[in-house]
Amino acid sequence: MPDSPTAPPRIVVIGGGNAGLSIAGRLHRARLGDITVIEPRETHVYAPLQSHIAGGTARASQASRPQADVIPPGVRWLRDAVFTVDADAHRVHLVSGGHLDYDQLIVAAGLRLAWDAIPGLPEAMAAPEGVSNYDLALAAKASPTLRDLRSGTVVFTQPPEPASCGAAAQKPLYLACDWWRALGVLDDIRVILVLPDPVPFGIPDVDRELRRVLEAYGVEVRYSREVRSVDATTRTLTIGHGDVEETLAYDVLHAVPPQRAPEWIAGSGLADPDDAHGFVDVDPETLRHRRFPDVWSLGDAARVATRPSGGAIRPQAKVLAKNLRAVLRGGTPTARYDGYSVVPFTVSRGTVVFAEFDRWGKPQPTIPFWRSLSRERRSTWVADRRILPWVYWNLILRGRA
Ligand SMILES: Cc1cc2nc3c(=O)[nH]c(=O)nc-3n(C[C@H](O)[C@H](O)[C@H](O)COP(=O)(O)OP(=O)(O)OC[C@H]3O[C@@H](n4cnc5c(N)ncnc54)[C@H](O)[C@@H]3O)c2cc1C
Repeated sequence: MPDSPTAPPRIVVIGGGNAGLSIAGRLHRARLGDITVIEPRETHVYAPLQSHIAGGTARASQASRPQADVIPPGVRWLRDAVFTVDADAHRVHLVSGGHLDYDQLIVAAGLRLAWDAIPGLPEAMAAPEGVSNYDLALAAKASPTLRDLRSGTVVFTQPPEPASCGAAAQKPLYLACDWWRALGVLDDIRVILVLPDPVPFGIPDVDRELRRVLEAYGVEVRYSREVRSVDATTRTLTIGHGDVEETLAYDVLHAVPPQRAPEWIAGSGLADPDDAHGFVDVDPETLRHRRFPDVWSLGDAARVATRPSGGAIRPQAKVLAKNLRAVLRGGTPTARYDGYSVVPFTVSRGTVVFAEFDRWGKPQPTIPFWRSLSRERRSTWVADRRILPWVYWNLILRGRA
């Protein structure tokens, strides 16, 4: 409870990424309490643009801003990291050694990139031919590496779920293939895509479009395969499934690492002990913790039974804000998140296949009845490359969209 009956509730948000700032801005605008965001990073990155940077359709400088500039007005920023949460005591322990007490806690700590989960992958990424759109520096390195290639073998890999907008691993592949085709060198470049599932994505309309595009670019797809190890010295990687194993040689490796929930979430007792992935154990519809009613979660760190994405955070933030408001006024949470999520596939340097779906994988277009957004279109390119970055910096991070 607050220090005095009239004091505003102390709301602590762990993580100042997409989810943390969206909800903090929204709660402050609704005047729901005294809000503190705990975030160690000094630079905020708009991750979706990293795919465009790697694929040569955006500059690295366009993806990041100082964290201090994007904290919503009226919200306090504590530059620290959470070490553990004691939910019984309503207390957050900080890496710096201090602690912070809360009335309501929102966990928005995202996913952790587990580069070291694949033997040899960190070394391969440190070598000149290792690139990735899942890290800003590696995306910046990918841009000239893919742009200047004229022949050889390029392997792109996508990790299994859970992953932050996992299929975004494919975006730089399409952008690069379109570029090589325009230069007339695509036939001289062997492009291999390693996918974790037996289909490119998992929604029939989208899969049809992606298969058509992959075929048109002449991409060799290895379905239902995971990366097992990489050897930077021989420039080879081993992929497999069960007993089947294959070694691929590469000139360039565009890899996306496995992803995990931060370990301290499970260590604090906030995950379901039966959930091997260790996400925050919230009700996937109300976003309230199943065992600690004053704990909430959204974004990549929350177990919400859908594929995580930035687009999924918008409806989540609205639901969480409504439910928290109801609880602070003595009511019960009634707003429900339906599992909406999105992946925009940049299938060329001017078109996008827009996959929008609910938690059952059923198409759920933002514009009702416009199901054909899942066809290759120019309008969705404009949305992905031009409109959404503006909306992100100016509206989403302030809790206005
Ligand atoms: C390459 C790439 C491309 C993508 N493309 C798309 C796309 O096209 N469309 C789309 O909708 N989505 C896309 N996404 C997904 C989208 O970016 C994420 O879903 C979104 O950023 C998740 O937001 P989040 O706040 O949950 O996590 P993050 O943005 O990762 O933020 C989590 C924050 O928590 C902080 N944190 C972690 N641990 C602690 C701690 N112990 N204490 C305090 N703070 C902590 C971190 O420093 C971080 O700033 C993409 C993601 C990537 C990586």
